[in-house]
Amino acid sequence: MFLRRLISFASIMICAAVVAMAAVYGIDDIPNVHVQDRTKYVSNPDGVLSAGTVATLDSMLYGLQRSTTAEVAVVVVDRIEGGDIDTFGTELFGKWGIGKKDNDNGLLFLVSKDDRKMVIRTGYGVEGLIPDLVGGRLIRNVAAPHFRSGDYDGGVLATVSAINDILSDPEAAGEVVSKYGPESVSRPDDTGRELFNLWIGAGMVMTFIVLAMYIVTLRRHSRDDRYGRYQALSKIELPALVMSFLGIGIPFIAFIVILITMRRLRTKRRLCPNCHHKMKRLDEQTDNQYLTPAQDTEERLKSVDYDVWLCGNCGELDILPYVNKASHYKVCPVCGARACSLRSERMVQRPTYRAEGLVVKEYVCHNCGRHNDETHKVPRLEREAPIIVGGLGAGRGFGGGGGGFSGGSFGGGMTGGGGASGGW
Ligand SMILES: [Zn+2]
Ligand SMILES: [Zn+2]
Repeated sequence: MFLRRLISFASIMICAAVVAMAAVYGIDDIPNVHVQDRTKYVSNPDGVLSAGTVATLDSMLYGLQRSTTAEVAVVVVDRIEGGDIDTFGTELFGKWGIGKKDNDNGLLFLVSKDDRKMVIRTGYGVEGLIPDLVGGRLIRNVAAPHFRSGDYDGGVLATVSAINDILSDPEAAGEVVSKYGPESVSRPDDTGRELFNLWIGAGMVMTFIVLAMYIVTLRRHSRDDRYGRYQALSKIELPALVMSFLGIGIPFIAFIVILITMRRLRTKRRLCPNCHHKMKRLDEQTDNQYLTPAQDTEERLKSVDYDVWLCGNCGELDILPYVNKASHYKVCPVCGARACSLRSERMVQRPTYRAEGLVVKEYVCHNCGRHNDETHKVPRLEREAPIIVGGLGAGRGFGGGGGGFSGGSFGGGMTGGGGASGGW
């Protein structure tokens, strides 16, 4: 009995706490919708206003901003923390920085429904057009009558329309229009966003290129056996890896697909070309007895890895070489093993501005022991090469995203606490 009472008491407390938390807003809790989307000006987190009213207000205020650069923010919430709407309005205005920095042409209309209070806060540049006297009149004569009858949509619409009329009056334009164009709002966070979009865009394009390379390669070699397809894919392995780095990671997914396919092509059981029985791949220890000394040396040097497949039915033996591309061993011109390493390198003729130079590289084979020299040309010295600039178009095209999604922020305006407040 006691327990049941305790539970019901606790649940009532929790419900009360949830209701209280949901409805009361601190400065930081009010969503700044304009940051997400610069065509939005109405913060309506509790849904006090209808979606239609919000849309009407947003398009009205976006139009106002575009034609005059004046920024008007509307906030309607259930209740604010502390209940002091004058201080709250000033602090919120300052935090969001409504209005352009140079002439502070911002205005905030804040309504706290359950407190039955509202405030119009103006920036310095708007104070002349909407002085406290006018603000007070809008509150008392326009908003309050609607609010008293519970018509928040009508009250906010009428008040904001009146504000819009005053601010967009051509007579007032001189005072409202900022020296900044409507689109050249200072938005420090946009550079990061554009870079991010560029990265995503470029990464996607490169991923598609890598995937296209993968599909085309497999198509082109669809008649080859698994070994042939593996070798074909291994040719695009390095380009795909380079693309992954250029796309800063995103095409890596496609690169992994290539690696997994190669792995499967290599390890999936082979069919005997003679009798079509499944063959068995010998492990690294057992396969050594089927390898030539040269192949054995290559495996030891890790320049080539050999897979040995044996048919248990007819005894067919397939030895498939997999060249290790990371290995620096070269093919020996004498015995053919990939077992030659560079032993020494000497310049026999220095390059000049007029003639090429010559360098002799001495290789030694770890299989047959023979030494062999290779002569390489060294390019002529060049005088100060001209630097070629241009040709790289700005990658703005990747920025993508409809206008509606690109965010913004208010212009950093300030308020001196001008405006008016009142209740209903
Ligand atoms: Zn067989
Ligand atoms: Zn050799």
